[in-house]
Amino acid sequence: MQQIPPLWLSPESHLARSAPDHPILYFSPRVLHEVAGRFQRGFPGLVTYAVKANPHPAVLSNLAAAGITAFDVASPAEMAAVRAASPDAVMHYNNPMRSKAEIAAGIEHGVASWSVDELSELEKLGAVPRSCEVAVRFALPVAGAAYDFGSKFGAAPEEAIELLKQVAAAGWTPALCFHPGTQCEDESAWVEYVHAAKRIVDAAGVKIARLNVGGGFAANRDGVAPDLEKVFAAIGAAADQAFGADGPTLICEPGRAMVSESFTLAARIKGMRKGGEVVFLNDGIYGGLVDIRDMGLPGRVEVVGADGAHRAGLRQPRVVFGPTCDSLDRLPDGLPLPGDAETGDYVLFPGLGAYSSAMSTHFNGYGLSDVATVIELSGQAAR
Ligand SMILES: *Cc1c(COP(=O)(O)O)cnc(C)c1O
Repeated sequence: MQQIPPLWLSPESHLARSAPDHPILYFSPRVLHEVAGRFQRGFPGLVTYAVKANPHPAVLSNLAAAGITAFDVASPAEMAAVRAASPDAVMHYNNPMRSKAEIAAGIEHGVASWSVDELSELEKLGAVPRSCEVAVRFALPVAGAAYDFGSKFGAAPEEAIELLKQVAAAGWTPALCFHPGTQCEDESAWVEYVHAAKRIVDAAGVKIARLNVGGGFAANRDGVAPDLEKVFAAIGAAADQAFGADGPTLICEPGRAMVSESFTLAARIKGMRKGGEVVFLNDGIYGGLVDIRDMGLPGRVEVVGADGAHRAGLRQPRVVFGPTCDSLDRLPDGLPLPGDAETGDYVLFPGLGAYSSAMSTHFNGYGLSDVATVIELSGQAAR
C-alpha cells in the first residue's frame, strides 16, 4: 500500500517531538490552497504557476488539486516534474533561450505556449506545431521590483513589433508576455507594461490572443501582507483602458507570491559566540536561506526551545553564520533574536516557500532536503 506521510499539527509540535538536527521546511498544503484561491478569485484572467520558485512534487500536485491547470516551465526537467504531478497540465515554456534538444523536449512534452525575445531564437522554433501560441517577450526599463529581470530577457519594444509580425506570419497564435521583476511592490510597473503592450500590438497591426503579465507579485517579507487584490485590480483596469472590451485574455504566472507563505523553515542554533552576539545555524546561504542574502532580512522570525515553546526575551540583533566553513556563509547582519535564545533552539523563518529548497546546495555536506507536512504554520502575521 502507498505510504502516507504523517501530518503534524505545527512546526513546534514536530520540533518538540523529533528534535531534528538538520534544517527542515514545514509545508502547509492548506495555506497553499488558500493562496491559490486568492489568485484565482482575484486575478482577472488565467492563473498559472512558475515552477522554478518551488518544484517540489507536493507543491505541484497540491496546486493541481487547487485547480491550477497551467504551469510556467523553463527546462525539460521542469516539464517532467509538472507531467508527473498533473498528466493533463498545460505548459508554457517561457525561457526564451533554448537549445535544439530542449526545443525537441518541449514539443515532446506538448508545450502549448512558447515565449521568444529574438529573431534568431524564433528561427529555431520551426518544428513547433502551428497550433501553439508563441508569445513575444518584451522588456521596459521600469523600476519597482527587487530584481530587474529585463536585463536578461525581453526584446525592446521596436524589436517586439517586428517579432510579433513574424510570429503571426509564420502561422502561430500571437501573444505578448513580460515579467516586471521579482518581489515587485509597485503595481505601476504592470500598468506601464500593459500600455506598452497595446502600443506594440497597434504598431505591429497584429491582434493578440493573450497577454501574459508575468510573475513578480510580492510576498510578505516584513510582516505586512501585500495587497495583491490592489495589484490585480490595477492590472485589470489597465487592460480594460488600453484594449477595451475586446482585449486579450490575461495570464499571470506567480512563483514567489504563490508558494512563499505555505512554508516555514526551521534551522537549529548549533552554537553561539561572544555572549550570543554571534549565532551559528545549521542552514545558511548555501542552503535554504539564500533568498535572505539576496532580498534582505525578513521581518518575521521566531525562536522555539526544545519543548516547542516560543522564546519571548527582548530581541537583540545578531550576526548569523550558516554551517559551512565558508566565511561568505553569513546572513545580512542584525537578525533580531530573543535574548533568551539558546544553543539547541530552532529559528523559524516563515514565508520561505519560494527560492529556498529549489536553490539549496549540499555544499560542505549541509543543505535543505527534509520537508514535513503540517496543518498550521506559526509565527505568521495576517496572510
Ligand atoms: C521566475 C519567473 C516567474 C516567477 O517570478 P516570481 O517573481 O517568483 O513571481 C514567472 N515567469 C517567468 C518567465 C519567470 O522566469
